[in-house]
Amino acid sequence: MFDKRTLTELGGWTGYRVADLEYRPGEGWTGRSKLLIRLEPRSKTMRCSRCGRKSRSVHDTTMRRIRDLPILDWDVVLLVPRRRLWCSHCGGPHLEALDWLSPHRRVTRRLEEAIGRLSRMMPLKQVAAFYGVGWHTVKAIDKALLQQEVLEPDWRGIEYLGMDEFALHKGHRYATVIVEPLRRQVLWVGEGRSREAIRPFFEGLDEAARRRIKAVVMDMNTAFDLEVQAYCPNAEVVYDLFHVVAKYGREVIDRVRVDEANRLCQDKRARKVIKSARWLLLRNRENLKTAEQTIRLDELLAANRALMTVYVLKEDLKCLWRYRHAGYAKRLWEGWYQRAMESGITPLMQFARRLKPYLQGILAHCRHPLHTSVLEGINNRIKVIKRMAYGFRDTEYFFLKIRAAFPGDLR
Ligand SMILES: [Zn+2]
Repeated sequence: MFDKRTLTELGGWTGYRVADLEYRPGEGWTGRSKLLIRLEPRSKTMRCSRCGRKSRSVHDTTMRRIRDLPILDWDVVLLVPRRRLWCSHCGGPHLEALDWLSPHRRVTRRLEEAIGRLSRMMPLKQVAAFYGVGWHTVKAIDKALLQQEVLEPDWRGIEYLGMDEFALHKGHRYATVIVEPLRRQVLWVGEGRSREAIRPFFEGLDEAARRRIKAVVMDMNTAFDLEVQAYCPNAEVVYDLFHVVAKYGREVIDRVRVDEANRLCQDKRARKVIKSARWLLLRNRENLKTAEQTIRLDELLAANRALMTVYVLKEDLKCLWRYRHAGYAKRLWEGWYQRAMESGITPLMQFARRLKPYLQGILAHCRHPLHTSVLEGINNRIKVIKRMAYGFRDTEYFFLKIRAAFPGDLR
């Protein structure tokens, strides 16, 4: 199928040429066909993989099976005489340096890169099946590439931070992610969600970097605010819209929906309509996909006063984050609070009362209009990464994947 010269040229195994080829057809439709390519060195001169100097003295040679990218339907296995040279400069035997194969690796550099690219898009198990290599090989390659790729952030321009927590391993343990929200760069990921857990992040910043932080956006139900105040003297805490609205959905809308459904226990049809309306009520109106959904929502709200009230107050609450003037925002809040308290709807009144002490951090958004979708976006992306790498035992690897997914837009 191939002649040795063509394959040598196409192969790009610098310093080596094809000595011979063997085709091994796979059996059945699941069997993978193999192309074995035996390589031989073109020259006696080698480069030391430690110091880069040249040498002609071979210490020993070991035949290695190295995987390369597939050719058409053939899995490619290279048989490479791996030479160790005697280096007079650094003393001792060292592997020959090859630009297409890293020392002690069993796959070529281009296959490593291909595996790394695919590992960003699909579960490791599928990548392993696609290239016919082991799951652990895929993981080791992806991890090594991520370690090279994920760089320490440039702290000089960083004035804003965002913090969020997410569940590790089925929700038993938690981790914290810290981001730069303007350039969407993940700066730090660590296990835990307590003050102590995030302290190493602040301790890693020098005094100038800590003083430079103007605002930190976060969920209001965390201990992060105290830690920010302790380390960043110029930072204001800003509470994030996404979390407040999610909390409102859980504590107010869900509760009122269940209460109303229970109240209507004798009217089976009405009860069913309310019970199945969770999605409609929590979704943004502009995200409803069909006219039918919009009509269903409107009918539901028209028929039920309590649901109508909590729905309208949800929309009004969101407006707080649109203001750029703290005075106007405060007036809106006061009106909102009064309507909530006069509604007579217990979950809504409780929510309003609990939200009140956080008002400063909500109004701070007027001065630091950080885009609240950043935390939500990162939160969702983390869930996808977790799903793709199910069976994640290696937290370090998981965190590297999160950091690599948000390298920062300005890079
Ligand atoms: Zn050397």
